[in-house]
Amino acid sequence: MFESLYQSFTDHADSSQSAARFKALREELARQGLDGFIVPRADRYQNEYVPPSDERLAWLTGFTGSAGLAVVLKDRAVLFVDARYTIQVRDQVDLAVVEPVPLASTSPEKWLEANLPNGAKLGYDPWLHTPGQIERYEKAVRNAGATLVAVDLNPIDAVWTVRPAPPQGAVKRHPPRLAGESAKKKLARIAAALGKADALFVSDPHAVAWAFNIRGADVAYTPLPLAFALIPHEGKPRLYIEAAKLNAATRAYLEEYAEVEGPMGLENDLERLGREHRHVLFDATTAPVKLTRLLKETGGVPEIGQDPIALMKARKNDTELEGTRAAHLRDGAALVRFLHWFDIEAPKGKLTEIDAARALETFRRETDRLKDLSFPTISAAGPHSAIPHYRVTEASNRKISRGIYLVDSGGQYEDGTTDITRTLAVGTPTQEMRDRFTRVLKGHIAIARAVFPKGTSGGQIDVLARLALWQAGLDFDHGTGHGVGSYLSVHEGPQRISKVGGVALEPGMILSNEPGYYKAGHFGIRIENLVVVTPVKIKGAERDMLGFETFSFVPIDLALIEPKLLDAEAIAWLDAYHADVRKRLSPYLDRSDRRWLAHATRPLGGGANAKKRSKVKHGRR
Ligand code: ZN
Ligand code: ZN
Repeated sequence: MFESLYQSFTDHADSSQSAARFKALREELARQGLDGFIVPRADRYQNEYVPPSDERLAWLTGFTGSAGLAVVLKDRAVLFVDARYTIQVRDQVDLAVVEPVPLASTSPEKWLEANLPNGAKLGYDPWLHTPGQIERYEKAVRNAGATLVAVDLNPIDAVWTVRPAPPQGAVKRHPPRLAGESAKKKLARIAAALGKADALFVSDPHAVAWAFNIRGADVAYTPLPLAFALIPHEGKPRLYIEAAKLNAATRAYLEEYAEVEGPMGLENDLERLGREHRHVLFDATTAPVKLTRLLKETGGVPEIGQDPIALMKARKNDTELEGTRAAHLRDGAALVRFLHWFDIEAPKGKLTEIDAARALETFRRETDRLKDLSFPTISAAGPHSAIPHYRVTEASNRKISRGIYLVDSGGQYEDGTTDITRTLAVGTPTQEMRDRFTRVLKGHIAIARAVFPKGTSGGQIDVLARLALWQAGLDFDHGTGHGVGSYLSVHEGPQRISKVGGVALEPGMILSNEPGYYKAGHFGIRIENLVVVTPVKIKGAERDMLGFETFSFVPIDLALIEPKLLDAEAIAWLDAYHADVRKRLSPYLDRSDRRWLAHATRPLGGGANAKKRSKVKHGRR
């Protein structure tokens, strides 16, 4: 785990091989009669974490970012990356072979339109793109006077000789004591939600995991079983999964609800539905264009829209919420042990970012319940904290010195998924750091205390997280909150809190509350807790009101707070939160950790005042 976390390059991503790999690819393209090829950072499931066997972009170019797209032509190749990766890509790729292009400067569509030679045949692998993506590329390619061609055999697979085997992670049942609802009930609810469609094609493995109450081990950080499913309006669902992933007990469990088939059965079944002129609902964000086309070509009607499972999965039931609460107390206690350790070790000036990330993982492992981290830990010292998606590697590893240290991390436990960020002062912070931190904290508290009428979207409350920053002419360039799964992905939709829209927030939806501030080259701040949308009773209320309950219990660094910037209500929230942290976590801690925690959560208000204030409940009004 540590090795894979901190190595900046795997064997498969090595830019010194790039020239040879591009040459082999171009020879294969010539054999297939193609003038170019699109290489996305994607697998068949549009996963966030792609198994090594599908890291084609990294193998070809050396670039290991989580998003990117290369276009390889006969005499040039470009690699599109977003703002997170404009620096990393130049370090990783052989610039003589591939030219990085920031997405901010041009889109792949615009680039294709301007650069594709007239009459060129540009290939793509239809398993790796969604229908919407291909529609956009097709238009651009047509405007350039060229054609887009779906390949049968991915030309990279033809030349990738030492390719890792596809994952065969064992699938386990996610039992009712954790899931809170049987697969039978879930599948019936899904079938009933199909409207006029004859069947739903489930292309998102998170949705497969949720619907069938199973978890797998095919990718890092998320317990996903890589599998597709077909859920008909009437009749038995079909699950398409490698037989090697199922033991006899799991297979028997699944066969109660579904026909279990190998992945090869899928195309036959879709062709059959096509011949019967069936309507099949596909998820726009994950369905491979290969399959929507197949249905259409055989006479069926693909309806490309939203998978209804996403919203069902987003609304957690009481069992899942209880599990998530328990996971957060366990995780919070591990964090407190880490923070205590950090408080002693960091001032000595010897710790590195990797030392800290390893220590934190060890504290989490000592809970004996950790299944995996929920994402690679962001352990960022000094200027690295100003990079919101910083990922420490052996090459970037920095000593933790005086100033800011930011740690964003999470764990996967069978009963829940965690994600938490704390920003810590090492030594005495500057006035500027305290001012910025306090403004971010004000935004965090404003979200935690928010109440809003039913029907309000995440986009409508996002401003609460930013107002104190805006008042000083500042802002941050990421969403305020993302959805979080229940022993599933730490990034889940459709719920979110951000400048751009989002669905109406509903009870049971878990979200992060993570405003930040970043001063490039200097320091960054983020304060993140997970929250759940919950009904709020207000005396005399004329509308159904909602608010948040905070799940995460970990102290917020008092050394970074400028109390003068906080109003009485914010101070009362913080003191009540800290009192709660103390009360809930103390049973999990030994005496020395408890003593440290008592000091770290001392009231800001001070004395009798604090006592009175701490009666104001946080989370709910
Ligand atoms: Zn986080
Ligand atoms: Zn987060």
